[in-house]
Amino acid sequence: MTGLQDRLQEAFEQFGWTRVPEVLHHHAEEAAKHNISYLEFLDKLLQEELLAKRDRYIQTRTRMANLPYHKTLEQFEFEFQPSIDERRIRDLATLRFIEHQENVIFLGPPGVGKTHLAVALALEAIKQRYTVYFTTAHDLVQTLQQADQNRTIRQKLRVFTKPRLLIIDEIGYRKMDETAAHFFIQIISERYEKGSIILTSNKSYGAWGEIFGDSVLATAILDRLLHHSTTINIKGESYRVKEKKKAGLFRPEGGERKLG
Ligand code: ADP
Ligand code: MG
Repeated sequence: MTGLQDRLQEAFEQFGWTRVPEVLHHHAEEAAKHNISYLEFLDKLLQEELLAKRDRYIQTRTRMANLPYHKTLEQFEFEFQPSIDERRIRDLATLRFIEHQENVIFLGPPGVGKTHLAVALALEAIKQRYTVYFTTAHDLVQTLQQADQNRTIRQKLRVFTKPRLLIIDEIGYRKMDETAAHFFIQIISERYEKGSIILTSNKSYGAWGEIFGDSVLATAILDRLLHHSTTINIKGESYRVKEKKKAGLFRPEGGERKLG
């Protein structure tokens, strides 16, 4: 019997199976008790391993996607943000936009759920086995500027061009100088009609000239971004402020405490 155990263990290790060794004895007992056929028994074990493999895959891809936090569409309260048409978000969650290399842009003031929705779509995309990478606009240009100095720019460009879905968060929180804007437009151009971008910004398109310090450049960027795209304009109150109000930490008549 121990010879058999050892051989099984050895085989599981060679296959890289981790779930079957955990559930084998349970399923073997059940099979004996309930007269389950050999084929059904085998099927049960293989299904368990496949499920575990899928979980591992999703965990690894989620780690690699560099998300700032993990929140799903189910955790989003649409009632709180009536300016968002839930059907449009549900439609985006089908991920047809990724299949068609289209972009999604979330616009709106701080705290209204732009990053949350971007992350939720990212998690959905990972589940559907698309490669995903999340970055802020600031980190993107900083990474590329540094790589340019270290002569690793070719490699680093691939981080932002290769994933099927790239999320660029927080455009417009900081202005970009000329070199930063140059790297930014390079990524937008290389992904144009090749890979989807989800972008978030607190600035309306009219104000993008200011972000890039050059209205011609801003127009060129917007041209490529918006050609095949969906814009979701979120108007409304910050969710964080609502939570603070509920907790009694926020008094609108000038008596508010510092907000995080
Ligand atoms: P921003 O628009 O500034 O990117 P976030 O998406 O990061 O804001 O939202 C700020 C916080 O509030 C996050 O923790 C997010 O999960 C939460 N949040 C925002 N809107 C909603 C909502 N409608 N339902 C549930 N949580 C929300
Ligand atoms: Mg955000």
